[in-house]
Amino acid sequence: MLEWSSPLQYLKGVGPVKAGQLAKLGLFTVGQLLEYFPVRYEDQSRLTAIASLIPGQLQTFQGRVMLVNERRVRRGLTILTITVSDGTGAIELVWFNQPFLKKKYQVGRMVRCYGKIEKHFSMRAANPETEVVEEEDPFSGRIQPVYRLVENVAQNLLRGLVEQILQAGVLIPEVLPESVRREYGLMDRAHAFHEIHEPESTEILDQAVSRLKFEELFLLQCGLLAVKAQNQKPFSGIKHGIDGMLSHQVMAALPFTLTGDQQQAWRDIRADMEDSQPMQRLLQGDVGSGKTVVAALALVKTVENGFQGALMAPTEILAEQHFTTLSKLLAPLGIKLGLLTGSKTKKQKEKVGELLAAGAIDVIIGTHALIQEYVQFRALGLIVTDEQHRFGVKQRAKLQEKGNEPDVLVMTATPIPRTMALTIYGDLDVSLIQTLPPGRKPIRTFLRGVEKREAIYRFVADEIRKGRQAYVVCPLVEESEKVDTQAAVQWFEMLKNSYFEQIPCGLIHGKMKAAEKDQAMTEFYQNHISLLVATTVIEVGVNVPNATVMVVEGAERFGLSQLHQLRGRIGRGAYQSYCILISKAKTGETYDRLKVMTESSDGFKIAEQDLLLRGPGQFFGTRQHGLPDLKIANIVTDLEILLRARAAAQQAITSDSYRGKLPKLLKDYFGGSFTHILQN
Ligand code: ADP
Ligand code: MG
Repeated sequence: MLEWSSPLQYLKGVGPVKAGQLAKLGLFTVGQLLEYFPVRYEDQSRLTAIASLIPGQLQTFQGRVMLVNERRVRRGLTILTITVSDGTGAIELVWFNQPFLKKKYQVGRMVRCYGKIEKHFSMRAANPETEVVEEEDPFSGRIQPVYRLVENVAQNLLRGLVEQILQAGVLIPEVLPESVRREYGLMDRAHAFHEIHEPESTEILDQAVSRLKFEELFLLQCGLLAVKAQNQKPFSGIKHGIDGMLSHQVMAALPFTLTGDQQQAWRDIRADMEDSQPMQRLLQGDVGSGKTVVAALALVKTVENGFQGALMAPTEILAEQHFTTLSKLLAPLGIKLGLLTGSKTKKQKEKVGELLAAGAIDVIIGTHALIQEYVQFRALGLIVTDEQHRFGVKQRAKLQEKGNEPDVLVMTATPIPRTMALTIYGDLDVSLIQTLPPGRKPIRTFLRGVEKREAIYRFVADEIRKGRQAYVVCPLVEESEKVDTQAAVQWFEMLKNSYFEQIPCGLIHGKMKAAEKDQAMTEFYQNHISLLVATTVIEVGVNVPNATVMVVEGAERFGLSQLHQLRGRIGRGAYQSYCILISKAKTGETYDRLKVMTESSDGFKIAEQDLLLRGPGQFFGTRQHGLPDLKIANIVTDLEILLRARAAAQQAITSDSYRGKLPKLLKDYFGGSFTHILQN
């Protein structure tokens, strides 16, 4: 009987060479190999005859090597072409700069390939997954697992070792509580591991896959819920009273009625605030969906209860904008507001600090200047942070420490799919505002080729002459901000001296100092500038209702969610807004992807598409999400399983004994990356 942690070197046939190969795949122990799940399966009966291969599709075929040809095209580029035939036809397999492959695929050998078929002059497949098939393949005739490989490691090595392990028997510890397994009808873990590597049938394989996805998402959720439980020290928070005079007054003073989603969000928040457990809630809603109003109601409620509220925004201009909006709404009720940003003088800041400490300010609005030491509250009851993804969790915590377990509301305009929200924000309760306030004219979005540029800019100039304002967004190529900035500057000069000669133009980019950026934004806000050329730094959340046109150059360089965020800068007023995406792409995947923008204005749908197309890493940017890599579950498509796993996890962590086992289970399953989340 093998142990989960037994080194692979204990297995027959694994000497130093093979061990070295396995190490390249990150495989050192029996358990690691068993958790190295197949990326797909192959069914022998699904082999396609070479003559029947369809160009453009991913297919599996098999044939004998007839010809090997290596060409050096120029220095540093060799092309290896191997022709294989199965009697029905021939196909060329092509590799670039992989000369070592010619040793492996010698004339006469039988090879099996999986790849995308292309039709040029002849049929070919570039960089296909290929393996040599032994004349007597011990695995032939079954549903075969296919593992992800790196050079020189053979499929059959992995298949053979897995078989050896499963035959020898290995202790595969169960990680799910027995009750969960029974309630959700999941096969036991050891069985699932057998099935996933050596499937009996596709039906049982499906069950095994579901079971393993379930356990992965279950453990992830348990971890997140444990974090949440840690944050929730029962009965130590502030118990706000039910709505009083001020709350009713502010509600009556609103120039509109709340949308259904806003009402629901407000009910959630109110209930949290009236509870003695500290609120930890995320308010998620697209730009312009009306989150700020909801936050205002919460701030009034805390003031009404004799506490102070703080609203932290990521930039100075946003803080000022919030200050203006909230002053209009709250000052008439006698609520005293303060503004604290980095650009105030030391003296001014200290003054604000004093007023806060004395309780002479009820609601303070500011940037991260709020977390400075001189800021002390008399009685902090509620913290609202806007655009949460700009703040580290640590900054939020620092502000929290200035009160005695204040309620916390986090607002974000980054629409993320539900699966993701439940996962990354698993430690927060979530309220969603999905419908925009009524009366908004939908933004009309167009996707156009570069040859239309002239007509597009003439249109923009016309709109500006009618009194509107416009943005031109230049792409950010990640490699070098310097180059991007230069490009944006050049573009700005070009536009200013051609289409927009008579029109006041401004420029904003990442290399500018914060004060310069604020200056440019403010001028645009005050309509001293009609056209703003920008890189992606256009501030999130800035509200310029008169800006109705946005042109995005090089749209293919942006993620869909990013485009959606950008587009949210317009469509904020009564005028019809236009978003024009300019791209070289005329057909193909990029075109289809961008086309989504012209068809949908639903940030959640767009985000889901984006996440599906690009994966979580790119979607969030590397630094963003701290999630462990998942071995088998898909964070986008496995929503059904996630919801069940989450419900099960909620149940399971109420058990003291399971909670006790959890840290070890999590460490075993996710390794260090999960501890990172736990401590974050
Ligand atoms: P967010 O903070 O979510 O980006 P805001 O709170 O700034 O959105 O709201 C955007 C605009 O919509 C504001 O001008 C606000 O006054 C307006 N608004 C908010 N809620 C409603 C509503 N229920 N009906 C009409 N207009 C609303
Ligand atoms: Mg906002």
